[in-house]
Amino acid sequence: MINVEFEALKAKNHLPSPKGLALKIIQLTLKEDVTTQEIANAIKTDPALSGRLIKMANVLMSYQTRPIVSISDVVMSLGLSVVRNVVLGMSLVDGSRDGICRKFNYPNFWSQSLLTAIAAKNFVEGRRMGSAEEMFILGLLSQVGSLGLAMAYPQEYSLILEKVGAEDTDTILIDLERTEFGLDHNQLTKEMLADWGLPQVFQIAALYHEDPALSDLAEGNRNWNILNALHIASYFSRVCLSHERQRYKLVQKLTLTAARLGWEEDIFTELADKTVQQWREWSKLFGIQSTEIPFFKEILQTAPPTELEMLDVGAPEVSLEAFYPLRILLVEDDYATMLVLKLALTKAGHTVATAGDGVEALSLLDQFIPQLIITDWNMPKMNGIDFCKALRCNELWQNTPVFVMMNQENLYRIREIFEAGASDYVPKPVNSKVLGARLCVTQRMVQLQEERKSEHQQLRTVAAQLAASNHRLHQMALTDVLTELPNRRHANDYLEQQWAMAERSGRSLSCMLVDVDFFKRVNDTYGHKVGDDVLQQVAQVLRSSARKQDMVCRFGGEEFLVICPDAHADQAYQYAERLRQNVAAGQSSLNLTVTISIGVASKAPAMLNAEMLLQLADKRLFIAKEMGRNRTVAN
Ligand code: GH3
Ligand code: MG
Ligand code: MG
Ligand code: MG
Repeated sequence: MINVEFEALKAKNHLPSPKGLALKIIQLTLKEDVTTQEIANAIKTDPALSGRLIKMANVLMSYQTRPIVSISDVVMSLGLSVVRNVVLGMSLVDGSRDGICRKFNYPNFWSQSLLTAIAAKNFVEGRRMGSAEEMFILGLLSQVGSLGLAMAYPQEYSLILEKVGAEDTDTILIDLERTEFGLDHNQLTKEMLADWGLPQVFQIAALYHEDPALSDLAEGNRNWNILNALHIASYFSRVCLSHERQRYKLVQKLTLTAARLGWEEDIFTELADKTVQQWREWSKLFGIQSTEIPFFKEILQTAPPTELEMLDVGAPEVSLEAFYPLRILLVEDDYATMLVLKLALTKAGHTVATAGDGVEALSLLDQFIPQLIITDWNMPKMNGIDFCKALRCNELWQNTPVFVMMNQENLYRIREIFEAGASDYVPKPVNSKVLGARLCVTQRMVQLQEERKSEHQQLRTVAAQLAASNHRLHQMALTDVLTELPNRRHANDYLEQQWAMAERSGRSLSCMLVDVDFFKRVNDTYGHKVGDDVLQQVAQVLRSSARKQDMVCRFGGEEFLVICPDAHADQAYQYAERLRQNVAAGQSSLNLTVTISIGVASKAPAMLNAEMLLQLADKRLFIAKEMGRNRTVAN
C-alpha cells in the first residue's frame, strides 16, 4: 500500500531527487565494477562540487592528522558509499532550498536536518555504535519525507501544517498525513532512502526515529543503537531550534533520554555544545542558515524542574515485573541517570530511595533498610568502592546485595569492586534485560533469606514458649500446691546440696522439723477445709519468720522442714524459738490457738550424711511432743 503510494509519487516526478552530476555519481557507484578513479574523474568535472567535497571530507574526518587535499584522497578516505551519500545530500540541499509549499519552512528544515546530522555523527563517534560518517548522512536525510510531502503536495501539505501549528503534536500530524496522502513523512522517508539504495538499517532507523519504542529491535544491539542515536540526535535538534518556552519543556526529557543511552549529564552537555559549535561552521559549507543557541548547560540550569512521573522517557522496561518487590537504595550522582533508573525500577514495582553519593547513602541505611543497593562507581565525596567497603564493615549490611554500575572503560577494574565486597556489577548504559535478570536472581535470594529469617524467628518463639512452660512445670513439680512452699522432693534436693556445700566449706548447717500440735483435732472439730486454712496460715508465719536464706518446706501432712545454712546449733535454736513463738502468737480466723513443736539438729563431725541430720531432728521433735508440745528441743 505504502509502496504503491510511493511509486505513484515517484512517477509524478515530484519528489526531491539528485540531479545532474550528483545523479550520475550515484548511478556510477551502483555499478559493480566501478573504480575509485572513475568516481574521482566524474567529480572533478565540477570544480565547485570538488572543492566542497574536499572541505566536507576534512571536517568529517577531522580526527585525521593528514589533511585531505585531492578528490582521489576524498574517495579513498571516505569510501565510495559515503562519498555517494555526501554528494546525494549536497545535491538535495541545493535542489530544495526553497519551494512553493507556503507553510513548509525550507531553511529551517535544512538547518534542523544538518544539526541532526552533526549530532548523530558526534553521538556515535568514539562509542563504536556505528560509522560516524554514515550517521551524518542518515541524520541529514532522516526527515526527507517531510520535504517530499511538501514538494509533492504543496497546497494540501500547507493546509495540514497550518492546522497542526507549531505545537508539539507529532501524532496529529502523522494521522493527518496518513489520511490525506496514504503515508506519513516517516514512511515516505523510508521509501526514499530505500530507493536511493541506503542500507536497510538506515531505513528502519529513519522510520522509527521519532518513537523508537515502536520498533521491535532488541535493546543494546547495533541497529538499536543506531536507531536510538538518531532518535536522540533528532530530538536534540528539535530542542535547540524550538522556541525558548517550548525548549525548556523538552530539554529535561532530552537529558533523561540521553542518560538512558548512557550519556551522563556532563558528557552529554559537552557533546551538545560541540555539536552546536560545529553546526555553525558546517552551515557555511552547505549554505544553510544557523542561529545563535545558548550553551546547553545554561538551557539545563534555567529549565524548570519537572515531575518525574510526568516524563515519559521510554525508561527501560525492567523486563520482568517484580514478583517479590524489593526496597532498593539507588546511589548515583548523575541526576538524569538516577531519574531514569528510578523510574524503571518503580515501574517494575520496587520501592526506591535515592542518594547522590556514598556518604548520603550511608546516612539513609538505618531508616530505609534496603534489601538491595545499586550504586554507581564514579561519584563525588565517596565513590562506589569506598561505599562498598564501608557497608561491609558494618555487621548489619554485610550480607545486603550490592550491584556496582560500571562504564565499559572501567570494566578492566572489575576485580576491585568484588574485592570491596560487591555482589555483582551492572554495565553502563544500563540494559533493561541485564538489570532485569540480575533483579530476578536477587528477588529470589532475598525472598529465601526473609523466609528463612521468619522461620527462624518462629522457631525461636516456640523454643522460648517451651522453655517457659518447662520452667513452669519444673516449678510445679517442686512446689506444694496448698501452701505454695517448696515440697518434700525440693527440700531433700536442697538439703543434699547444702550438706555438700557445708562439707566443702566447713561452714555450719542446721535444720528444724516442725509439726503442728493436735492438728487432727482441728480437722475433726472444724472440718478438713478449716484444717487446710490453718496449714496455709502456719506456712505463712513460718515463711515470714524465717531468715531470707532459710528454706521453709512442707515436708508432710502437717509437718514442715526448715533448712538453715550457715547456722550453728545455738543460732538454730534461737531461730526455731522465734518461729514457735510467732505461730503461737498468731490468731487464726476462728480464734483457734495453734501451736507447733520443733526438733532442731545441727551438722556435727560424726554425721555421715544429711539423712542422719534429719533423723536427729525427727528424734528431737518426738521428744518435744513427749515433753508436752509447743516447744523446741535442740539437744
Ligand atoms: P500431734 O500433736 O501428736 O502431732 O497430733 P496430731 O493430731 O497433729 O497428729 P496426727 O499425726 O495424729 O494427725 C495429723 C493429722 O493431720 C492427720 C491428718 O488427717 C491431718 N492432715 C494431714 N495432711 C492434711 C491436709 O493436707 N489437710 C488437712 N486438713 N489435714 C491434714
Ligand atoms: Mg557517577
Ligand atoms: Mg505429724
Ligand atoms: Mg501433729
